[in-house]
Amino acid sequence: MNAATSTNSAPAERARIGGWQPFSSCDWPGRLAAVVFFAGCPWRCGYCHNPGLLQRRHGQHRWPQLRELLLRRRGLLDGVVFSGGEPLSDPALPALLAEVRALGFATGLHTAGAHPHRLQQVLPLLDWVGLDIKTVPGRYAALTASGGSGARAFASLDLLLAHGGDFECRSTIHPALHDEHSLRQLATTLAQQGVRRYAWQLLRPGPQLPQPFAPIATGWPHAELQQQVAAMFAQFELRSG
Ligand code: SF4
Repeated sequence: MNAATSTNSAPAERARIGGWQPFSSCDWPGRLAAVVFFAGCPWRCGYCHNPGLLQRRHGQHRWPQLRELLLRRRGLLDGVVFSGGEPLSDPALPALLAEVRALGFATGLHTAGAHPHRLQQVLPLLDWVGLDIKTVPGRYAALTASGGSGARAFASLDLLLAHGGDFECRSTIHPALHDEHSLRQLATTLAQQGVRRYAWQLLRPGPQLPQPFAPIATGWPHAELQQQVAAMFAQFELRSG
């Protein structure tokens, strides 16, 4: 069934939106994009960057206003990235993607892979995906406080690989969450599965996070590990957050 006609989808006006960023050059590598943040996520990571967006009820029906703002930015933006929260938790996502495409923008998605079936439905409507891969499958539940999360995230990866569209994997990393062995193990797993673009994003500690984290010492992860991991992918990047 086509995503735009899925019986599970909802009209765009029903989307629960927590906020938006009119211009971003870092949320879709190489593209200038607006970013729309959905409210709602089924997982509870202790390092969540947007804890205020975890409850769907915290979002508002802002799509009509955002549509107007996007219409005024045609020609200035390459695309629109849907982020969160977990955008695939919102039944209105397929309608928004179809509408944004019809307005002439490319479509991007940030997802942690919590809903592989819904990801499969919207793949034909996506030009790029940033898939958050948190750790090796066996350590997922501890990071997300959700059983079965690792299987879902890696099922989402399988779908992206089979689809063949443009995507990257990225992992937010911190010494309290990852040791160097698990980082190497994760990178090896991704490379063996066929991932070509990968990024590490250093976790930025701060009072907005659900749990306290110490600042990351300069030089972590060590340069030799970075070089080893970089050699596994066509493109690898260490991002400072
Ligand atoms: S999956 Fe993403 S949005 Fe959901 S709790 Fe984890 S970090 Fe936050």
